[in-house]
Amino acid sequence: MSSYYQPEIETMPRDGLQALQLERLKALVAYVYERIPFYREAFDAAGVKPSDINALDDLSKLPFTAKQDLRDAYPFKMFAVGRDDVVRIHASSGTTGNATVVGYTQNDLKNWGDCFGRFLVAAGATTESVVQVAYGYGLFTGGLGAHQGAEAVGCTVVPMSSGNTKRQVQFMKDFDTDILCCTPSYALLIADTALEEGFTPATDFKISAAVLGAEPCSEGMRQEIQTKLGLKMLDIYGLSEVMGPGVACECGCQKGLHVCEDHFIVEIVDPDTLEPVPDGTWGEAVFTTLTKECSPLIRYRTRDITRIIEGTCECGRSFRRIDRITGRTDDMLIIRGVNVFPSQIEEVITKFDEITAQYQIVLSSKGPLDHVELLVETVPEYPFDEVRRLEALRKRLAAELKSNLQVSIEVRIVEPKTIVRSEGKAKRILDLRERG
Ligand SMILES: [Zn+2]
Repeated sequence: MSSYYQPEIETMPRDGLQALQLERLKALVAYVYERIPFYREAFDAAGVKPSDINALDDLSKLPFTAKQDLRDAYPFKMFAVGRDDVVRIHASSGTTGNATVVGYTQNDLKNWGDCFGRFLVAAGATTESVVQVAYGYGLFTGGLGAHQGAEAVGCTVVPMSSGNTKRQVQFMKDFDTDILCCTPSYALLIADTALEEGFTPATDFKISAAVLGAEPCSEGMRQEIQTKLGLKMLDIYGLSEVMGPGVACECGCQKGLHVCEDHFIVEIVDPDTLEPVPDGTWGEAVFTTLTKECSPLIRYRTRDITRIIEGTCECGRSFRRIDRITGRTDDMLIIRGVNVFPSQIEEVITKFDEITAQYQIVLSSKGPLDHVELLVETVPEYPFDEVRRLEALRKRLAAELKSNLQVSIEVRIVEPKTIVRSEGKAKRILDLRERG
């Protein structure tokens, strides 16, 4: 069942891989010290010189890089190469403050394509495959990242971008799409649209796999996507600051995401103390890029919560695995002193057949404490006008949330199709609190 895109790298013995990482880390540290004033100043302030890095453990001597550092460097102050070597720019949306801008050289794009390509092959892609890219194209890295990967493998790419959902469905059928790439929430919208259009994707369509990412996805949501579309879903991870999608991805075993360790070093740290935690312990993922030429990063704090999965994977890949992302520290809700991630709420919701996986968490201030309300909607065939039955359902969901999350959440059930669907990343939290 296992197939590799770059077997000599993907199954490299650990000692060889670590030797490669160390060689690349030493070169990287010297490179950023020489070329990026931000890093020279940060290293000097920390009292560390490139010559102090002689083992992989020495990485912990180096300072962290935060999102704010990238914002402060707007637009190009973190670039390590001149304009003539930059072949593409991506940027993350700056809802607060400056956008974070990331540049790519030709080699950076090639490496990106290889990383994404590895996981398309893990999903079953060959040169015969048709890959439909329904991530948004543009400054967001999803669309072009998946595109780059599919081209690297030699697949036939259908660059749909997001939106035009009925057309996505029609092309998926008419073009015999094998693999879909988009966000999990958009895959679900595509699945529901296909069903509404009278198709049964699991039997009518050729599609066999989906490589989905850019937002957390609970196991319940994965099951729903897999069942409705009749495929196997691999969860892919990445972020524009580090590269884009393809930093890590599941293999066919679906037991954690293999980090492309020839290109990245992953550390898990305690988000409060910033000390590394033991393997298996949840914490914040921190990435160091080993091969990036234009926008290299030392110990970049992602704010994404995961853990290292111990042991080796049955697929034969030697890259270590991280667990599926629970959420971002930024998205964590503190409800009456209890930490709750939206993905944990999603996990509970998806156990209820009467309720869709679409939901919204509304935060508002009522009195001195944050007020949290969960909006869910029933599936279209549910008898919404049977008030007592609906109330019983609401109570059952509230009780299940309470027993799973150890906190009471107010639940409101709304009519089918009233919660806004997303063609990209779902907006699960509506924050109506007054900002102080
Ligand atoms: Zn594996």
